[in-house]
Amino acid sequence: MSSRVYLQRIEDWKDFAGVAVSFRNLLEESKILDMVRADRPAAIKLTFGEAGNQGHPPVPLVRELVVALRARGGHPFLTETNTLYNGRRKNALDHLELAREHGFAFENVGAPILFGDGLLGRETFDVTLPSDDVPVAHLVPTVRDTDSLVGLAHATGHLLTGFGGAIKNIGMGLASRVGKLEMHSVVSPLVREEQCILCLACIGACAHEAIRRGETAVAIDGQRCTGCAECLAVCPTGAIGIDWSKDSRRIQERMAEYALAVCRVLEPRIAFVNLLNHISDHCDCIGPTPNLIAPDIGIALSRDPVALDQATLDLVREAAGGDPFRAAWPEADAEAQLAHAEAIALGSRHYELVETG
Ligand code: SF4
Ligand code: SF4
Repeated sequence: MSSRVYLQRIEDWKDFAGVAVSFRNLLEESKILDMVRADRPAAIKLTFGEAGNQGHPPVPLVRELVVALRARGGHPFLTETNTLYNGRRKNALDHLELAREHGFAFENVGAPILFGDGLLGRETFDVTLPSDDVPVAHLVPTVRDTDSLVGLAHATGHLLTGFGGAIKNIGMGLASRVGKLEMHSVVSPLVREEQCILCLACIGACAHEAIRRGETAVAIDGQRCTGCAECLAVCPTGAIGIDWSKDSRRIQERMAEYALAVCRVLEPRIAFVNLLNHISDHCDCIGPTPNLIAPDIGIALSRDPVALDQATLDLVREAAGGDPFRAAWPEADAEAQLAHAEAIALGSRHYELVETG
C-alpha cells in the first residue's frame, strides 16, 4: 500500500516570506493538520541547531506552522530534547538561550518552547514494543502529554546514520537521555593511532571522561564511552573512526524502533514535514555546515514518516544526480533505517507524490 507525500518545489529560499506562503498553501492543500484538536496541546518537534548552524528550520516557516495550528484551535508549542554531547544544547537553560539567539523567541514564532526531557535531560517515559532489540523505548514525557505532534525536520546527511529526516527527528529527537544512550551504545569508536597528533580536542569534547592521553595517541575506554560521537566531530585529522559495517545499521534500526514507539502513542494525531533546502553532509547538531551536497528542492510532508523519508531520499538523489548522502558517508547506508522502519510497520516505502503549486 502506498502513502501520499505532498511536495511544493521551491527554488528561492532567500525569500522567506515567499517560502512561508508556499508552506501555508501546502499545509492547507494537504490537510495533514486536520488531526489537530481544539483546546489541546499541539507540539512542533524541531531542532534549533548547534551554535552557528544555519540549516535549522527557518523561523518564518516555524511561525507559519504555529499560525496554522492556532487556526485549528490547537495550543502550539515548540519542543526539543537536550544532547548527549558537549555543546550549548546539553541542558535546557543553555539550549533555550541558543534557541533565542537563533531567532526562536516567543515574539518571533508565537509559541513557547518546552524541552521534552526537563532541565537536565533526565525526564523519561517508557513505551513497550514487540521487539527483541528494543523491548522498551525510553521517550520524553512530552510524547505522552501532548495531544498532537508535527515533526518538522531538516533533511541532512548524518555521520552515524547516513541521512536524517522524519524518522530521525522523532526517533532520536524524542528519546530521553537514557534512550539516546541506548541507541548510541551500539557504536564503538576506535583511534587510528598513526593519525593522532595529540591535539587533545577529543578529550575536551568528551562529556563522559572516556578518553585519556597515551604516549603517542589517545585511547578510548569502552566501559565509559556512550558512543555519542562527539569526538569524531571534533577530531581534526580523522583519527577517530567507527566500525560502521555493523554499527550504523543497528543504530538506524533502533532509531526506527523509537520512532515507532512515538507513533504508537500519538497516532492518529501525528504528521511530518521535511525541509529539503540547505542540504548538508552534516546534520544541524554540528554548527556551521558549509558543505552543501544537493540543490534546494522544496518542502515535503506526509502522515507517513517512512514514505516521506523515502521520497526525500529519491528527490535528493534525483536533484544531485547521484546519492550525495552515501558519497559523504560511504559506510552508513541510510537504506537500513527505511528497510527496518517498513519491516516493523512504521510506514510504507511506497508513495504517491502529489506536487502542489
Ligand atoms: S569517547 Fe565515546 S563518549 Fe567520549 S566523545 Fe567519543 S563517542 Fe562520545
Ligand atoms: S582529536 Fe583526534 S588528533 Fe586530536 S587527540 Fe583526539 S584523536 Fe588525536
